[in-house]
This record gives sequence, structure tokens and C-alpha cells, in this order.
Amino acid sequence: MIDFSPNKDQVQIQSLAKKFAREVIRPAEIELDKMADPDAVFSSELFRKTIKSAYELGFHKMGIKEEFGGLGLDPLTTALVWEELSYGGIGIAATLLAAPVVPLFLSILASGNKKLIDQYVRPYCEDSEAKHITAWGSSEGNIGSDGSNYHDPKVRHETKAVKDGGEWVIDGAKSSFVSNGGIADCFLLFANVDPTRGIPGSGIFLVPNGEGVVRGKAMDKIGMRVLNQADISFDNVKVPAEYMLTPPGDMYPLMHNAIKTVGNIGVGYLAVGIMRAAFDEALAYAKERVQFGKPIVEHQAVGFRLFEAFQAIEAARGLLWKASWKLANNPLGDLKFSAAARVFATNMAMKHTVEMVQILGGYGISKEYTLEKYMRDAKLLQIMDATNEIMTIKGVALL
Ligand SMILES: Cc1cc2nc3c(=O)[nH]c(=O)nc-3n(C[C@H](O)[C@H](O)[C@H](O)COP(=O)(O)OP(=O)(O)OC[C@H]3O[C@@H](n4cnc5c(N)ncnc54)[C@H](O)[C@@H]3O)c2cc1C
Repeated sequence: MIDFSPNKDQVQIQSLAKKFAREVIRPAEIELDKMADPDAVFSSELFRKTIKSAYELGFHKMGIKEEFGGLGLDPLTTALVWEELSYGGIGIAATLLAAPVVPLFLSILASGNKKLIDQYVRPYCEDSEAKHITAWGSSEGNIGSDGSNYHDPKVRHETKAVKDGGEWVIDGAKSSFVSNGGIADCFLLFANVDPTRGIPGSGIFLVPNGEGVVRGKAMDKIGMRVLNQADISFDNVKVPAEYMLTPPGDMYPLMHNAIKTVGNIGVGYLAVGIMRAAFDEALAYAKERVQFGKPIVEHQAVGFRLFEAFQAIEAARGLLWKASWKLANNPLGDLKFSAAARVFATNMAMKHTVEMVQILGGYGISKEYTLEKYMRDAKLLQIMDATNEIMTIKGVALL
């Protein structure tokens, strides 16, 4: 029943990702991470060039069905790729994870809607210039974890959509956390339609960037500085009636949790990739650095730390593979497994990137090495796409 060996096609795409991560993502991330002005990062030639190269190789469309122009890769194959890309740098990897959110949602949900597929999925898949990047927006100033609070009718998205003839009119603003928010050309937007129903009173809309949409400045933050995060506001934005992809109501928690099931697996692989990168650098250093007359890896306090990191990487990956396997066998996946895998992987990434910094001693905190970046980047993983506390609460409810 259990076999950990990848097939020929998987080995091929994994090797491609590995090479791209080391030769393109890693050097770009290190340079972009050092830029003081976040907006300068995303308008830079280096950022655009790196994302464009990823699109040319098809990393933006891996999970989209072949019939719509995607690569149609299964979740266990994309698992191998996401880990490799994340090894290079999780800012670029997270940009690519979020980039297909609109076409992916459309291709899973609205496969019967040929017009929307032709307008928003095929052009995205054909894009080798990285002109099409998408984003999802639920969080608002007052809606963080409350985005999963389905039970209190007083808690709702303030961004609202009102039907006017054959159109929806959208007004409101999303928080500065929206991944790709400042660079996306299309949004999957959560907007309230029925104020009496709280969060489940929201519909999920497709909203192209256009008149009335304002994309904010890039957030200045501790880590993942190469992932654009920005607020977006909507002022009297009109979209056709069929752009409401999911109506408000009882289906809302199911749809929202399905997004979390998939998203959390992605976040988990970001964590494994970064942990492995930190481990490899610390191990190499520990074999070279001599103190008290021998390489520090031979001091048990150092060796134990490294072996614990190795265990965490293998355990986190194993749990994630099971969650990916669940997803491969059921389009809605299994939230309990996704949550367990993501919470474990991200907590381990935080713990062990700190430990790997310690192995380098004073050099660990120097920008001469990359360890301090991994540690800063890891912190965001415990918060993104719902915090680990919220994912744990969701997991407990499913036991
Ligand atoms: C890297 C990153 C990417 C993101 N990308 C997106 C995106 O693309 N789109 C989008 O819409 N949003 C995005 N977010 C926002 C993210 O979903 C929110 O930051 C997250 O849901 C937490 O909300 P908050 O920051 O408002 O914290 P709050 O909800 O205010 O929480 C503050 C603290 O209280 C804790 N807490 C809250 N409620 C409970 C409870 N019931 N029990 C126990 N503890 C609780 C939380 O765990 C946290 O520690 C992103 C965030 C990050 C960091």
C-alpha cells in the first residue's frame, strides 16, 4: 500500500523545480528581501522577470485541468514541486500558490460556465508573461479570524454586494493582508449579500481589476517580503450577475472550508521547503565550523538540534503527503488532515528555523547568511490563511 518512490514524470518536474528554485528563485529572493521599500520590490525588473520565468515553465497552472489549458497535475505531484520551489524562497513560491486562485476556483466550480472559463481560465493558462495574477480577499479591518465565525449573525463582511438589475454593485475594502493584492488583475472576493446571516450571508465573487477598484501599497513586514500583500478597495464596482460564483447561505462554510483544505496544504509545503533550506545550511556549516578542536556537529548539543530538525522535516512532509493524498481522492480533501499537517509543519518551521540560526551562533543573525531570513519568513506561516489557533479549533471540531 505504501510506496514513497515518485514516478518518472514526477521526478522530471521535481528536478525542473529544484533547478529553478536554486538557480532563479533563491538569488532573486535574497536580493529582493534586502530592499527597504516594499513597493520597489514589486515594481522591480528582478521580481517581474522571476515570476515571468516561473510562468514560462508552467508553475502557475499546475493544478488546473488540462481541458482548460492547465497542466492537470494531481495533488501528490504538485506537492513535490511546491516543496522544491519553497526551498528556493517562500515569497516567490507563495506568489505562485496564490496566483491561480480565481482560475482554479472557476475551473473546479463552474466547469459548465464556458464563457467565464474562456475569459478567465484559458488566458491565464496561456499567459507566459505573468500578466495575469489573481488574489483572494476575505480579511477586512474587523474580519480576521472572524472570517471563520459562521455562527454569530452580527459578524459579517462589511464589503457588500447589492443586486441592481443584471449586475452586482460592490463597495467596501479588504485588509492589507491580501496576498498578491497590489499586483493582481482579478480577485476572488468575499462580499456580504444578506446582512441577516452573518458571515454565511456572503457570496464569493469574481471581480476583475477595473474602474472603482483601487489596489493599495505593499505592506512592509518582517518576513516573506517577496510576497506582495496589499489592501484593495471597491467603490461602486459593477460586475455581471454571473460573476457571483457561490451564493450566500448554508453552502458557505463548506466552500470556505474547502478553500482552507487546499490552501493549508500549500502553506504546509512552504514550511517544509523553508525548514529543509535552513537545515541544509546549518548542517553544512556545522560540519565546517571548528570549536573546541572539532567540527561543531560533533558536539552533541549541536548534533541533537540537527537530528530533531531532520525528524521534523520528514514527519511534516509525511503528514502533508497524506493530506495531499486525501485531496487527490476527493476534490474537497479532508480538512482535518490539512489542518493537522499545516499546523504541525508551520510550528516545526518556526521552531527549527530558530534552532538553525542558533547553530550558526553570531553568524546566524548576520545577513551574510540566509538563516535569519528563513526565521523571519517562517513567522508568517503560522498566521496566513487563518492562524494556527483557528485551524486547530477547526480540527478539534472534526475529531
Ligand atoms: C502571509 C499572510 C498572507 C495572507 N493572505 C491573505 C489573503 O490572501 N487573503 C485574505 O483575505 N487574507 C489573507 N491573510 C490574512 C489572514 O487570513 C489573517 O491575518 C488571519 O486570518 C488572522 O487574522 P488577524 O490577523 O486579523 O488576527 P486576529 O483574528 O485578530 O487574531 C489575533 C490573535 O487572536 C487569536 N484568536 C482569534 N480568535 C481566536 C479564538 N476564537 N480562539 C483562540 N485564538 C483566537 C488568533 O489566533 C491570533 O493569535 C494573510 C495573512 C498573512 C500573514
